[in-house]
Amino acid sequence: MPRPSLLSRLYLLLGVLGLGFIGLAFYLHRTTESLLTRDLGRELAGDLAFLVDLGRNDPSLLQPPRADSLARAVSRYKGYRVTIIAPDGAVVGESHVPAERLGEIANHADRAEVKAARADTALGQSLHYSQTVGMTMFYAAKSVSSGGTVIRMAAGPATLDDFRAAARRTAMWAILLFIMAAGVIALWVSQRISQPLLRLRGEARDVSKPLRWEAPFREAEILNEAFVDYADAIQNLAVELRVERDRLLAVLDRLEEGVVLLDHRGFIRAVNAAALKLLPLHLDGKSDANGESLVGRYFGTVVHHEGLARWATEVRTSGPASSGKSGGVPREGVYQVDKREDGGANDSPMDLLCHSRALRPDGAELELLLTFVDVTSFRNLDRAKTDFVANASHELKTPLSSILGYSETLLDGAMEDARARGTFLQKIHANARRLQGLVQDLLNLSQLESAESAPRAEPLFVRDFVQAAWNNHRAAAENQGIRFENRVPVNLKWNLEPRDLDLMVGNLVGNAVKYNSPAGKVRVEWDETARTLGVRDTGAGIPTEALPRIFERFYRGGGARATNEGTGLGLAIVKHAAQRYGITVAAESVLGEGSRFTLEVPVDIIGN
Ligand code: ADP
Repeated sequence: MPRPSLLSRLYLLLGVLGLGFIGLAFYLHRTTESLLTRDLGRELAGDLAFLVDLGRNDPSLLQPPRADSLARAVSRYKGYRVTIIAPDGAVVGESHVPAERLGEIANHADRAEVKAARADTALGQSLHYSQTVGMTMFYAAKSVSSGGTVIRMAAGPATLDDFRAAARRTAMWAILLFIMAAGVIALWVSQRISQPLLRLRGEARDVSKPLRWEAPFREAEILNEAFVDYADAIQNLAVELRVERDRLLAVLDRLEEGVVLLDHRGFIRAVNAAALKLLPLHLDGKSDANGESLVGRYFGTVVHHEGLARWATEVRTSGPASSGKSGGVPREGVYQVDKREDGGANDSPMDLLCHSRALRPDGAELELLLTFVDVTSFRNLDRAKTDFVANASHELKTPLSSILGYSETLLDGAMEDARARGTFLQKIHANARRLQGLVQDLLNLSQLESAESAPRAEPLFVRDFVQAAWNNHRAAAENQGIRFENRVPVNLKWNLEPRDLDLMVGNLVGNAVKYNSPAGKVRVEWDETARTLGVRDTGAGIPTEALPRIFERFYRGGGARATNEGTGLGLAIVKHAAQRYGITVAAESVLGEGSRFTLEVPVDIIGN
């Protein structure tokens, strides 16, 4: 319950004071009345004493008919009612009743003031209703002698009422004045204290604005100063918090890892730049580059991925375990995400490693930290490794099976047949060579892939390596009538490791011979301006759709598959060797006319 306001307390205090004041006025009214009565009593007592003295000196004055005359005379003179009562209680003189009706007045022996006066000759007083006059009157009576005649004087209502009215008027005025004073005080307090304080509250609501409050008195000034200090402290704190928050957001945005923070209901609290890049999130327009519009929205509806949305809901609702599994829901998972769903720029699906961690900031509700890492390349590598092993095994199996088959046939008796023996042995030899080539290629590839140290480069005359490569294939080429043209300048030197240049040129020239047409031509040339070494052949060429794949390991074009020659590793070896030096390998081809493979070398490779 709110504490009572200062003003209401003041009203209460004024109310209590007012009641007290009214009580006091009432008391004063009563006191005034009794004081006035006493005064009246005293006055009457004086008059009575005088009359008693008169009566004592001349008792006949108190006897009828003089008594009645006396009563009237005194009454006329003093203005009070005067009654003279004989010892037996009969009224013998009465100023306010005509003389002829004296006998009708009731016996006064039992009147209180009469009794009192008679009892001790002192003054008897009483305030009571007079049947004779028909109104309340103040009576004072005195006995001439003990048990003797009693003279009574009474102040009529006019006198009493005058006294009373005066007392009441005084009290009324006092009360009225008090109420007015109370009103003025309340108004003053309200104007000077309550209202300014309420205004101060209004002003203080927005701490970012300086207080524009003029303190009406010293205490308020102190309060105001305290407020200003307080507001300053809060503003400083706000600035510090903002700086801290900005720093945190900057760190978040520079993380490679996508981060999304959800509240306990699954609504987004924060999202970093990487998360925007990785996740298929529905943004409000392109202008919302930093994902501001996502904050406060439900993750499940802004992420365009059913699996991710479900996973986030499950980890959130399954309890606050901080690691591993919770309620059977894996805290970690890999989801394939296609950003194209959202019109994003990424072409191929991405593998996202998603991780969830429960957070509970001090005293706050449970929050969920979701992190996302792009593991596509790792997964691709993994897949490539598996494919590679499968392909390699397959490629090794084929020649091995042939060798086994032919040798078993020989052992089974074909040895005896000289012709068959020769053919089979040749086949065994050819397959063993193929196996050897394959193993050599695999070795070369694995060496190139695992080469961690920098290449031991030395200046090499390219022309010589091209010539050596041709010489290796010369026999086969001349069998087909293929001609060779080495147009590489004699002094062209590249700084490479000899093995790598050997592998590159060897494989390219080998392919140019292998995939050439009979009586075709192989030409190797150097383009000084483009810094490219081109190996051109006049073979059947490579279909456009196959071009992007020819550098993959174990990829063999349709025609090549039919022949036993080749392993599908040659161009992969060329590519890996070239990569070590930043050399770019490219292929272009026109079907039916031939192909051209180029090695574009960086300037620093070229020696002088
Ligand atoms: P392979 O051992 O099969 O030659 P490569 O990796 O050297 O393996 O080549 C991959 C494929 O690229 C070949 O199977 C062939 O289809 C194609 N290819 C390579 N060089 C040429 C070329 N000069 N002319 C036509 N096709 C080629």
